[in-house]
Amino acid sequence: MSNQTAIAELKSKLRGELIEPGDPGYENLRQVYNGMINRRPGGIARCADVADIITSVNFARENGIVLAVRGGGHNAAGLGVCDGGLVVDLSSIRYTHVDPEAGTVRVGGGSTWGDVDHATHAFDLAVPTGIISTTGVGGLTLGGGLGHLTRKCGLTIDNLISADLVLADGSSVTASAWRHEDLFWAIRGGGGNFGIVTSFLFKAHRIHTDYAGPMLWEIDQAPDVMRWYRKFITEAPDDINGFFAFLVVPPGPPFPEHLHNKKMCGIVWCYTGDLGRAEEVFKPIRGFLKPALDFVGPIPHPALQSMFDPIYPPGHQWYWKADFFNDLSDAAIAQHVKYGRELPTMQSTMHLYPVNGAASRVGKDDTAWGYRDATFAQVIVGVDPDPANNDRIIKWARSYWDALHPYSAGGAYVNFMMDEGEDRVKATYRDNYGRLARIKAKYDPANLFSVNQNIKPEAAMR
Ligand SMILES: Cc1cc2nc3c(=O)[nH]c(=O)nc-3n(C[C@H](O)[C@H](O)[C@H](O)COP(=O)(O)OP(=O)(O)OC[C@H]3O[C@@H](n4cnc5c(N)ncnc54)[C@H](O)[C@@H]3O)c2cc1C
Repeated sequence: MSNQTAIAELKSKLRGELIEPGDPGYENLRQVYNGMINRRPGGIARCADVADIITSVNFARENGIVLAVRGGGHNAAGLGVCDGGLVVDLSSIRYTHVDPEAGTVRVGGGSTWGDVDHATHAFDLAVPTGIISTTGVGGLTLGGGLGHLTRKCGLTIDNLISADLVLADGSSVTASAWRHEDLFWAIRGGGGNFGIVTSFLFKAHRIHTDYAGPMLWEIDQAPDVMRWYRKFITEAPDDINGFFAFLVVPPGPPFPEHLHNKKMCGIVWCYTGDLGRAEEVFKPIRGFLKPALDFVGPIPHPALQSMFDPIYPPGHQWYWKADFFNDLSDAAIAQHVKYGRELPTMQSTMHLYPVNGAASRVGKDDTAWGYRDATFAQVIVGVDPDPANNDRIIKWARSYWDALHPYSAGGAYVNFMMDEGEDRVKATYRDNYGRLARIKAKYDPANLFSVNQNIKPEAAMR
């Protein structure tokens, strides 16, 4: 950022701080969750309130500089930070307010899901979200939101009642089913393309203690487990969620020593029905093939939500590849098993999330999220603390994806993608892309919000 007068004016208007290169804290603040991302913004506006966000948006637009918006900073492609330009850092816009009578929770745009789980649990409530509690509410929600409650309660966006946004022209609006309906449609899956969400209002569900956790089997049993799983999870009642994974057992407690560092396959279950019936419900699951490890039992919902946090602290190197799948054929299973056996590092993994149940009963064009008819969202993630292993994790993830992509439905879940170009974004939104591009042209015609899985304003497409 070079215009010193404009920068001085920005600083004087902010109640929060503007951190520039060379300032104490800059090196720390420019980091995002994925240690592979190394960008140097011209400034980081640590916004204290909505007024600061409006000031920052106006500054970026008037000075023609790149604007990135940082929620939880978890995005694999590093979409919460930019090179040069201004980062609008929402991490101070972090609050929750539960209304137990209405069964809703209002959440600040820079909150994490751990904040929400903590706040709602005290009221025996929960919002459907992802599986790591340090993930930002902003990015996860705007991209869709898949997790342990997807089959029972739908995607996170299916539980969004309204959102307050700062738009590209600096104005503020509330989007809901009754106000700015087009915008409300677009932000449910369309990412950060349309404005900065300062506050989300979610519907919460009566959930306190789950019957949940991982079950692991030997990798040699993976073909049997996958064939059983593909049938079971498409027929199971909505109360049962389970995502399939290939993983390496972490070398420490609570895992038994004989399994340490072993490549295995598993299903992470989450049952939210009547707890008194849980053992009975799980009898056929346990009965089909005895697991080598069974950590499934009663667990407070926030404990499940943060169960995997210690394995994935911030700063590791991450490389993601993703696709949607309509089915899991025997031929695809053979490829899965090949690459599952070749997991390159302890934290690398492959997850297959079910997109059926409640999430599939929302129409394909009811929200911007276009793959309601897919059965699975697959993500292959190469992860390691050491950058020296980047070639290995990237090569494995790409080869695995290349082998499975021919069996896929075409696009990928937007929150599981790296920076993969316009065609992949279009494939993600399918028939909804044109409508999104028109709404983008209405609310952000100059594409100020471009550091995201970008939807080009319709005019710019011609
Ligand atoms: C370890 C890990 C586990 C994950 N697990 C899941 C999972 O179980 N389910 C799932 O669905 N996803 C999961 N994800 C993916 C996650 O949804 C995306 O990475 C998401 O983009 C993270 O949001 P964020 O706010 O933390 O990211 P950021 O990097 O801060 O932002 C990501 C994008 O969203 C925009 N954005 C963020 N906040 C706002 C806001 N308030 N207003 C407007 N735009 C905003 C940013 O501009 C950027 O384009 C996981 C990611 C990680 C790293």
